[in-house]
Amino acid sequence: MQYLTVLGSTGSIGTSTLDVVARHPDKYQIVALTANRQVDLLFRQCVQFKPRYAVLLDEVAVAQLRVLLRDAGLKTEVLCGVDALETVSVLPEVDAVMAAIVGAAGLRPTLAAARAGKKILLANKETLVMAGNVFMDAVRLSGSALLPIDSEHNAIFQALPRGYNGDMAGSGVRRILLTASGGPFRTTPLNELQHVTPEQACAHPNWVMGRKISVDSASMMNKGLEVIEAHWLFNAPADDIQVVIHPQSVIHSLVEYVDGSVLAQLGNPDMRTPIAYGLAYPERIASGVAPLDLFKVATLDFVEPDFERFPCLKLAYQALRAAGTAPAVLNAANEIAVAAFLDRQIPFLFIPRVIEAVLDALPVNTVGCLDDVLGADSAARHAAQQQISELIK
Ligand code: NAD
Ligand code: MG
Repeated sequence: MQYLTVLGSTGSIGTSTLDVVARHPDKYQIVALTANRQVDLLFRQCVQFKPRYAVLLDEVAVAQLRVLLRDAGLKTEVLCGVDALETVSVLPEVDAVMAAIVGAAGLRPTLAAARAGKKILLANKETLVMAGNVFMDAVRLSGSALLPIDSEHNAIFQALPRGYNGDMAGSGVRRILLTASGGPFRTTPLNELQHVTPEQACAHPNWVMGRKISVDSASMMNKGLEVIEAHWLFNAPADDIQVVIHPQSVIHSLVEYVDGSVLAQLGNPDMRTPIAYGLAYPERIASGVAPLDLFKVATLDFVEPDFERFPCLKLAYQALRAAGTAPAVLNAANEIAVAAFLDRQIPFLFIPRVIEAVLDALPVNTVGCLDDVLGADSAARHAAQQQISELIK
């Protein structure tokens, strides 16, 4: 039996995780579930999975959940706040933590799980973007097993030699080919991008995801964050990570070897595949995902990315090359800009403008510890808010 904490259980990845878990009650048991403030869904999850703990970030929501649980006769203990997220990530009875909180809020509990030596199923890419070296050092030091859940990184993990140790050259790996669907605006001309709405940005052609990552996919910042994520996971320099636009989202990424071999992982675009892979690794379990019908897919297309229409991708490569706190600044400015876009405060094309201005305004410092990252994160949030106020004046 594997005992699990699911951070962000009410989100897109969280619910997919519980869907896979529910198919294997003989293999997995839930110890803790967490959410920001979605009381009703978290309550239903508690009824189904009977966790020992449920965590919410909102005090009103905590009180509501306690009443619902008491009336239902459930013993789940409800905890509140950021510290509680860490508490349930390091419990001695927990074997594995699914890190599926969205954004920078996922960093602390995910890092705590790594320090405690838990097996980590990493969906929260922002942890690696913000604090790649701190997090990877913690994983190495504690001996945590780190399983990438982001579909591209899961594909790369599967296509790399088993036991890959970060030595690309020594493993005969030449390049990582990171596929991208191109998002809902893959073919939209630049002048039309100015007027797109949050609803259009969130209507992804192939994947159903949370709103923040959906906007990131539309701006291609998601791919930019994933380039940085791949850098840390696989010790790959920016120059050896090639983004490939592949609109069908059937190939989830590829690894190119020095002998000319290119290994890919294919499947229907459904996050339950990488989730099941991570849960069961090194075994394989059923995920509920329909088999891939190649005859129905019929055609696979590949196109080079357009850095002019998608400046966020360029900014992410720049931040990775600048290193230090630059990726944390990029991530924080992006979170603020995306939230402002979703709130209809700024148009879509202001997202890269805000990020670029913040990257230009803030110094690049070295990252020695978590505080360096958190300092850069908060300075960048402040600078991004200022930029937005000026842009919409
Ligand atoms: P989502 O918005 O659907 O869910 C986010 C979860 O985090 C929810 O349970 C929410 O309650 C919780 N949460 C939100 N803000 C919080 C806060 N401040 N403190 C604590 N909890 C908070 O997001 P998602 O699409 O499931 O994405 C989760 C993570 O997985 C993101 O980092 C995303 O980049 C990554 N990811 C998602 C997908 C996908 O298909 N959805 C694919 C690859 C990677
Ligand atoms: Mg992805």
